[in-house]
Amino acid sequence: MGPRVRFAPSPTGYLHVGGARTALFNWLYARRHRGTFVLRIEDTDVQRSSADMVTGILEGLRWLGLDWDEGPEVGGPRGPYFQSGRLDRYRAAAARLVAEGHAYYCYCSPERLRDEREKAEARGEAWQYDRACLNLAPERIAELEAVAAPRAIRFKVPSTHTAFEDIVHGRIAFDPRSIEDFVVLRSDNHPTYHLSVVVDDVEMGITHVIRGDDHISNTPKHLLLFEALGVTPPTFAHVPLILGADKKRLSKRHGATSVTEYRRQGYLPAAMVNFLALLGWSPGDDRELLSVAELVDSFSLEGISGGNAVFNVEKLEWMNGQYIARLPAGELAGAVEPFLADAGLPVPRDRGWFHRLLDLLRPRAKRLTDFAELARPFLVDTVEYEPHAVEKHLDAPDVGAHVAALAAALRTTDPFDEPHVEATVRGTAAERGVKAGVLIHATRVAVTGRTTSPGLFEVLVLLGRERSVARLERLVNFLATRRAGRVS
Ligand code: GLU
Repeated sequence: MGPRVRFAPSPTGYLHVGGARTALFNWLYARRHRGTFVLRIEDTDVQRSSADMVTGILEGLRWLGLDWDEGPEVGGPRGPYFQSGRLDRYRAAAARLVAEGHAYYCYCSPERLRDEREKAEARGEAWQYDRACLNLAPERIAELEAVAAPRAIRFKVPSTHTAFEDIVHGRIAFDPRSIEDFVVLRSDNHPTYHLSVVVDDVEMGITHVIRGDDHISNTPKHLLLFEALGVTPPTFAHVPLILGADKKRLSKRHGATSVTEYRRQGYLPAAMVNFLALLGWSPGDDRELLSVAELVDSFSLEGISGGNAVFNVEKLEWMNGQYIARLPAGELAGAVEPFLADAGLPVPRDRGWFHRLLDLLRPRAKRLTDFAELARPFLVDTVEYEPHAVEKHLDAPDVGAHVAALAAALRTTDPFDEPHVEATVRGTAAERGVKAGVLIHATRVAVTGRTTSPGLFEVLVLLGRERSVARLERLVNFLATRRAGRVS
């Protein structure tokens, strides 16, 4: 039996890059060791959780290709996989802890707890629950029960256990005296996070808990609960935080933090996965571009570094460009289509032609969104001339006549392929006594409206004879009209 790991998001927000990275490490570990990846939704905070957030998290994971073996929508033998559907189990576990002497009822009112805390703070001391209810006399308990006084269940923290081994951080020592008798079941009968997470990890047979560093301080409590429940605890691996370029914890100030937002910005899931994997983990050599299969093959918890990881969006963009460069044309076409549609551009019906276009443009694209801009001149009927392109390249003497000559020459260029088109352009420039550059620049403005584009001869061939010639003639007319306007 392979390891069982879990990703346990609270659906109180979208899937952020930190969560996605935690999910990815769990997934890679499961796939590497032929284990089971469980997805568990920790929605006990009913007020702050929402079904939309759950949907968003599932979509984000699916987009990244992180499929789960057990969890929402796929089910599994250890469900339900929503904590809101497991409340009875937490209540039963809490009752068992009381019955076995590991926990006790606490009738202290919130007012009393607040007063005691404030008094201690006034003395400059930190307050811990004073175990006022640990040894209540049976008569007192009977009185409180008779009036149905609200009661919580507190865990009786033993003084055993002072350290655990974390795969990433090594031995982490803690002082059980610094842990108060924490609540496991609130007076409203709702479990606290500590209880629900441990009960679920036990009942779902989780062998490795891979989660963010922000949970390190909770782990001692969890270990004590595992012990009280008579279960060998899982192995823990706490993954370092993700920081922004300024070394502060990654937040919206640094730009997009939601996985969906990166999808919208035109990142490929494979690039995102590769990038996220290297946030705090390394294959142990200097490879930077690793396919999912390679990641699965090289992943180990020992390869996770204890130091914090820096989210470098330029690196992500570079990586995305690398993935765009390598993606098979058919897949790239599918990925680009929605971005064309968003930009109001038609998707070419001729697939072969579309693939050639994408091959021409991809060296210039870092994100899928770039394709919409790069492809525009090829997909619209009439290109718009950018004003600075007009200023820069159309003011040379006799440009209109040169362009008209080229249009005529291209009508008879046969075959209409790159070498012949290039020979025609250069030959026309030579015949007319201008530098090839003058004609090339003007032609580029004619066919794309811009000062920059992929290689002009390739552009002309891809546009084809009819459209190329028509665009050159349109420029000739445009220049004539402009000159007439100036003269009058
Ligand atoms: N639900 C917790 C969170 O979203 C994760 C709990 C865990 O991994 O133990 O932070």
